[in-house]
Amino acid sequence: MSSEKISKNRRFFALQGGLERLEQLIGSKEETDMGYVIFDLDGTVICSKHRQLNKPGGSLDLDHWRENCTAEKIAADSLLPLAESMKAIYEAGHTIIVCTSRICQSYDMEFLDRHGLKYHHFISRHETDARADGEYKIARLEELAKQLGFPNVASMNAIMFDDNLEVIRAMVSIGVHCFDATRENARKIAA
Ligand SMILES: [Mg+2]
Repeated sequence: MSSEKISKNRRFFALQGGLERLEQLIGSKEETDMGYVIFDLDGTVICSKHRQLNKPGGSLDLDHWRENCTAEKIAADSLLPLAESMKAIYEAGHTIIVCTSRICQSYDMEFLDRHGLKYHHFISRHETDARADGEYKIARLEELAKQLGFPNVASMNAIMFDDNLEVIRAMVSIGVHCFDATRENARKIAA
């Protein structure tokens, strides 16, 4: 595939967005060359509302979250419609990065495994990291970009799905195209 066509596809994602169009183009890695696709977990591919409390501004209340991270409660989480998109994008051979604000333990990873949510790179919060979600995600994705040999995350041509408007604003400000997961899930439920 010509580099001109690849960049045309990327421009199309960036300018016209929309998961519907993205899904039409998922096809094969060769045809779309989507590169890296970043997924948040809570509110994006997993519904964990029953154990979640948000602070004003949208960031997770981490103390409340920690208290509710029991094996039983995590097992009661369910999948949102975008989980199917994540699976389809993985199966089509694109590179999936999970970027979650969760502090993960074995129960979290077991849930992903049990529900067939596969990924190539996994970013979760360190126990002592209390940064706001947007700041934390930018910093950790910039670290990953450098590990993968890119000068910065914007140059990865990544697209991202997240339900936190603070995160979306932060990622857009550094040049990453973001889909609003709340809107995309609602659209898929209505379809
Ligand atoms: Mg979220």
